[in-house]
Amino acid sequence: MPQFDMIIISPDSPQAQNAEAHTAGKPLREGGGSETYRCGACKTKLLVNVAHHDAHGAVVKCGKCGKINAEPHHH
Ligand SMILES: [Zn+2]
Repeated sequence: MPQFDMIIISPDSPQAQNAEAHTAGKPLREGGGSETYRCGACKTKLLVNVAHHDAHGAVVKCGKCGKINAEPHHH
């Protein structure tokens, strides 16, 4: 199962304004695929076993460290 570290972006960037809030202790989204995405700063799992299209364009505010994570755009 592939696992990816997301990219930390600036809270001031336009992308960050659409961030979804993750809650520490459980993934923001889980299931539907085989890709796991971790916070690029603290390695908390934000999206677990999701399909690639579910992660595409995702912007997530980590509930543990508060950093804004964007999808790393691998293909
Ligand atoms: Zn984090």
